[in-house]
Amino acid sequence: MTNPLYDALIAPQIDRAAPLLLTDGAEISGAEFAAMAHRFAHALVVLGLEPGDRMAVQIQKSPEALALYGAALAAGVVFLPLNTAYTPDEVAYFVENSGAVLLVCDPSASEALGPVAAHHGAAMQTLDGTGDGSLALLAAEQPDGFDPVERSRDDLAAILYTSGTTGRSKGAMLTQANLLDNAQVLVDEWRFTADDVLLHMLPIFHTHGLFVASNVSLLSGGKMIFLPGFSVDRALCWLPRATSMMGVPTFYTRLLDDPRFDRALTGHMRLFTSGSAPLLAETHRQFQGRTGHRILERYGMTETNMSTSNPYDGERRAGTVGFPLPGVELKITDPETGEELPQGSPGMIEVRGHNVFKGYWQMPEKTAEELRADGFFITGDIGVIDADGYVSIVGRQKDLIISGGYNIYPKEIELVLDEQPGVLESAVIGVPHPDFGEAVVAVIVPEAGAEVTAQALEAAIAPGLARFKQPKRYAVVAELPRNTMGKVQKNLLREQFRDSFA
Ligand code: ATP
Ligand code: MG
Repeated sequence: MTNPLYDALIAPQIDRAAPLLLTDGAEISGAEFAAMAHRFAHALVVLGLEPGDRMAVQIQKSPEALALYGAALAAGVVFLPLNTAYTPDEVAYFVENSGAVLLVCDPSASEALGPVAAHHGAAMQTLDGTGDGSLALLAAEQPDGFDPVERSRDDLAAILYTSGTTGRSKGAMLTQANLLDNAQVLVDEWRFTADDVLLHMLPIFHTHGLFVASNVSLLSGGKMIFLPGFSVDRALCWLPRATSMMGVPTFYTRLLDDPRFDRALTGHMRLFTSGSAPLLAETHRQFQGRTGHRILERYGMTETNMSTSNPYDGERRAGTVGFPLPGVELKITDPETGEELPQGSPGMIEVRGHNVFKGYWQMPEKTAEELRADGFFITGDIGVIDADGYVSIVGRQKDLIISGGYNIYPKEIELVLDEQPGVLESAVIGVPHPDFGEAVVAVIVPEAGAEVTAQALEAAIAPGLARFKQPKRYAVVAELPRNTMGKVQKNLLREQFRDSFA
């Protein structure tokens, strides 16, 4: 019997007396974790789930929630985690779209989600952030051992919905091989071993926290400090016991905002990684100044797991996402023709390799649009490769502004704006304009206490940027709208400023 992911991630825990998960209240050994996963796996079988069935889960992060992922692997059930911020209407879409057989939710949501599950013919069970709920009660009666079902490398392990930053979320079908091979590459590239203690504060409904952080840690045999979410105070408290940390850029900016975060606290650390959204070069430099560490930035997405990474040894170049990982081919193509572009020209990032998903669940047309017959996936991100081979993300194709017939990449303007005194960060968007089709609008977040005026910014950027790229409107806001992964939601900004020139 083989079940590649279970065999690699869960089976090795069975005999492990040492702690696997450290939480604010408890230490959970590998053996306890495996037993928990097995009891949940029995519960799924009792509930009638069969290999290949989908289980949608919208629950708080907890050791039990991670064990439920392990249970899905053991029972061959396709794991489908959902952002805890999604409303019942949104959950209804995922349940319907995925044809989930079981919906696991927080007890507090059962009243709102009960009808959703019933309407779509799914069973419902509950599990809360402390590990209690109907599913836990059922699991408590089950045995600690479970015979994992046979799975092949090509079988689906999960359907992970994209973050919905650019439109309706799509269900990416991820196979056992996609997840296992990518985790193995990351363990090797980032030198994870059984001695590692990963500070895990990411949500586990997203590729970053589940497949990068948790899979890498489980595969390497290390420990996780498994916290329900990010908090500066908890991070400062636990950092002394960690060897490594994975974060989104906002984790790092918030830590840097706190003077207690310093070299003494981080001197023993081995690795800090960042991804899911661009890390400002400024944050990278500040982090090094404060701690002496260079954050390792990498790039990936729901559909491809991780595709590129800065090197572990060698220069971690600020503002870049490094090189394609072993087993991943990456090329830059003309978005119109698909022809490969020469090095140095910005264009569509396409990737192919062990990491690339099988297609979008029940969206054959969308799959055919984005996944080429030769296996290259059209990521929707615009990037450029420098002379040394480092890849930089210029922006998303969908954020491209076309003004007066010119293509404008917001990132280029944002980089200039971000350097201006008093500017903390910026987001540049295109909004409808009667003459130009679209016009450039700059949304500016000032530094605390700083005054920035449109006149001063206009004057400062005019010498360096062609006239057609210069914003036609500046708006100052207290903060940019971000989703839980720290991604700036430009669609909301476009909506907010759409009548600027009406
Ligand atoms: P949707 O596809 O539904 O619009 P999404 O693309 O935001 O949502 P994810 O798969 O969670 O959903 O995010 C992947 C995207 O995140 C990438 O395509 C890229 O735009 C961005 N991203 C990830 N890592 C980085 C990084 N290091 N620098 C810049 N952007 C990044
Ligand atoms: Mg996407």
